[in-house]
Amino acid sequence: VKATRQLKQGLIEVEGDTQPELFKAIASAVEVFDEAKCGLCGCEDILPVVRKNKDGDDFFEYQCRGLIKNQEGKTERCRAYLYLGQNKDKKAAGLFPVRALDEKGKPDRTSGKYGRHNGWTRYRGEPKPQK
Ligand SMILES: [Zn+2]
Repeated sequence: VKATRQLKQGLIEVEGDTQPELFKAIASAVEVFDEAKCGLCGCEDILPVVRKNKDGDDFFEYQCRGLIKNQEGKTERCRAYLYLGQNKDKKAAGLFPVRALDEKGKPDRTSGKYGRHNGWTRYRGEPKPQK
């Protein structure tokens, strides 16, 4: 069985052998692909990006390309991102957005908190010590 569904970002087609499978496929597609805007600046110019870490693992995230005014009133890139986790289970190797953040703004599924940011953050790790 195939179904198409209109998402904010465009049309998506999913398949399943049974209605429950199809329903799961649609639910997963909506959760992962129906991101409409940056949760911090509200800009709709967001881009799916895949990065690799030094171990060769893929990292999935949406990046905001919007422009914001900084504290000095200058225009700069928003640079917020929404991190997508990946199920370890190979059979259901789906992605899911991580919408909870810890107090520093780091995506944290287990002990993070949900908020108006909807999981979007500018956290990029601890600042490196100056040499
Ligand atoms: Zn933004």
